[in-house]
Amino acid sequence: MTQDLFRTDAYLRSCPATVTAITGQGIVLDRTVFYPLGGGQAGDAGTLELADGRVIAIADTRKGKDDEGHFTDEICHIPASDGHPALSNQDFCAQLGLAVGDTVTARIDWTRRHRLMRFHTTTHLLCHLVPRLVNGCSITPDYARLDFAMTEPLDKDALSAGIAALVAAAHPVAVGQITDAELDANPALVKSMSVQPPRGSGTVRTIRIGTATADADRTGTTDLIDFQPCGGTHVANTSEIGAVVVTRIEKKSANSRRVVLGFAD
Ligand SMILES: [Zn+2]
Repeated sequence: MTQDLFRTDAYLRSCPATVTAITGQGIVLDRTVFYPLGGGQAGDAGTLELADGRVIAIADTRKGKDDEGHFTDEICHIPASDGHPALSNQDFCAQLGLAVGDTVTARIDWTRRHRLMRFHTTTHLLCHLVPRLVNGCSITPDYARLDFAMTEPLDKDALSAGIAALVAAAHPVAVGQITDAELDANPALVKSMSVQPPRGSGTVRTIRIGTATADADRTGTTDLIDFQPCGGTHVANTSEIGAVVVTRIEKKSANSRRVVLGFAD
């Protein structure tokens, strides 16, 4: 399995790691700072630096899949194809002399990742501003979109002002966890119809924006802006989001409104 260091520290930009497999899906490491595509958030890009200083560009990151198409607990780093247009990952790595057991330094494209973090936290602010179920989400380095199951119109400028106020208020963002049983007892915590939190390991990772008064009140209300299960990477404080605005509202269908986010700076 790949130890997912970004889960506990989204600000880690690099780590030493050992190659555990090289497959058609990519280069698998024993630990990584690369977030794999999931929960609407794009996979990370970056580089793997070999012991001799040579660098492999990584274009994307995905969760590994087994022969039946089920996710495994491995994270696959996909080499940029412009480095080896006609080669398999295995042949490309063999040409470089990269083999299982080698140590590398895994380094994410931090500028790109930080944009993903700013957008991801903003989508959670939108869940506070638009208290409706989410039925679609996509977070890229250049824009993000969140689809709400609703029929009423949304006001672009009012939502941008709402985001700006929450950013100015500098609310803390905290990673936590709840048990499967706590989640089952509070089904309203799940705000997405399209992404269900992974049950089965006993606990589910959560993101809380704002402060709860006491630990016993983790699902409570005081000063709480948003609290929901989420596996993504987030900024530590809403002030770090900066100038993110709603660039467009679209009527995606009769029962769905799409909010598109962009950077104003
Ligand atoms: Zn999320």
